[in-house]
Amino acid sequence: MGTVRNLILDASAVARVCGTARDDFRSTLFDLSAAGVEVWLYTAEYPEIVRQVSTLTLGDGSCFDEMQSQAQELLKLNMPSFQWLSALSGDFEKIDHTDLLTQALMTAAARLGSDACVVTTDPRRVKRDRLFIDDEAVRSLTVERKVNFVDLATQQKCIRSSLEENIHRVLHHGSYVMGPEITELEQRLMQMSGAAHSVGVASGTDALLIALMASDVGPGDEVITSPFTFFATAETIALLGAIPIYVDVDPFTFNIDVNRIESAITARTKAIMPVSLYGQCAEMDEINVLANKHSLIVIEDAAQSFGATYKKGRSCALSHLACTSFFPAKPLGAYGDAGACFSQDEELAKKIRQIRDHGQDSRYHHIRLGINGRLDTIQAAVLLAKLDIFEGEVASRQRAAARYETLLAEKARQGSLALPVVLPHNKSTWAQYTVRVKNRPLVQQLMTEAGIPTAVHYPTSLYRQPALEQSTVTCEQSDRAANEVLSLPMHPYLTDEVQQRIAECLSEAIDASGAEPSFEAMERGIS
Ligand SMILES: *Cc1c(COP(=O)(O)O)cnc(C)c1O
Repeated sequence: MGTVRNLILDASAVARVCGTARDDFRSTLFDLSAAGVEVWLYTAEYPEIVRQVSTLTLGDGSCFDEMQSQAQELLKLNMPSFQWLSALSGDFEKIDHTDLLTQALMTAAARLGSDACVVTTDPRRVKRDRLFIDDEAVRSLTVERKVNFVDLATQQKCIRSSLEENIHRVLHHGSYVMGPEITELEQRLMQMSGAAHSVGVASGTDALLIALMASDVGPGDEVITSPFTFFATAETIALLGAIPIYVDVDPFTFNIDVNRIESAITARTKAIMPVSLYGQCAEMDEINVLANKHSLIVIEDAAQSFGATYKKGRSCALSHLACTSFFPAKPLGAYGDAGACFSQDEELAKKIRQIRDHGQDSRYHHIRLGINGRLDTIQAAVLLAKLDIFEGEVASRQRAAARYETLLAEKARQGSLALPVVLPHNKSTWAQYTVRVKNRPLVQQLMTEAGIPTAVHYPTSLYRQPALEQSTVTCEQSDRAANEVLSLPMHPYLTDEVQQRIAECLSEAIDASGAEPSFEAMERGIS
């Protein structure tokens, strides 16, 4: 047998697991489950599972309620952590007359992907299709232990029931555009951020575009921002005909260097757009002081920092306007594109709502130019399910970051790498855990070969991007960061064991890369 990631246990297999006190079939299953194989029971088999499992202890002739509580107890005691696999209506459209559930199980298993099997003790099922395997075959399965850069599968497991309920509710109420979930989500986002207004939009990029439009940024205007960020930050400025004015970043936080902002302000400056990179807020107090002095609007690009705190405040509630992204890989991600704008000002919020929907102030009455920037109802439904566990996830990310710091401290002390620096008044959401290394291409290649995924956020200062090129600009710190940064796997479900593997692998790769330890004590991120 090959590798497998999903095992469905049919009712006979469940009874087999629950039926014998000491059984190596059961311990095999526990081992597979601990190694990352998902164990599923199929909801359509529920009555059959109850019948077969309860018969083990009750015998025939009991009432269903009695059988049910008995079965639930035995499942809790004997089954490795399992999930319920939902039956869908299509599972019962191809039923043949020989075995009602066999075909349905096959259809459901196929939905999990090509690496799913159904475990059974029924020889007729084993004979019928290769999807079915018996307990002997289970023993010879192997598991591929993979390190993930982000782990949306484990997260999904934690919220499966609310996720399915929320999505199905949208399927049934049918308000696919601007459904009730949008308002509900906006309320929750306001509560969590402390912002006065929140408007769901189609993506983080649309959030930035809409915020700039609401600030009346147009041709010839200048917007001060960071060159060390995702392309969309400056792209949206340029799309409106405005000019991104790049101010170099602080070498420790990689956020805009507030000491360099004022000298970049001119008569054409309209706004400052700091980026709260990797989940750590920019120095918003200093930025707001400068903006007030020069009557500028501040738009926080909080695409990576929703959930972060800054002094007594929270990201997205620290400036006139803020924009976040719910791209799947962000700390709070949807299952597709989504984003939100935040505002402290009612008039601006109203304008944002209009721009989101073609500039309408009422149906088919367009008082300004806008875009189709609405958030999908289904994405809002997904986000509502994820919000329930979000705060716990941010706390887990912070614990994971603390573990990395301990594991990598020695290497940092030697000057072989620089650890991320979070200022004492900040709590990061750790959208990325990003270190600096010399010889990055080789370090990254060695890690890839060892099965550890890494990423570079970001490899090029924006003024060097062909579509945004400004050949007269150089930001030394940004260019240096672009050559040195390396993001390690970061998500709330990282285990100590996996992080140890990653840290060892990184240390070995740095040693093998032959780079001289050359990070100055100050920038190593250790105090
Ligand atoms: C992800 C990201 C964006 C864009 O968000 P999308 O939802 O992908 O459009 C903008 N700015 C920064 C800093 C980002 O990380």
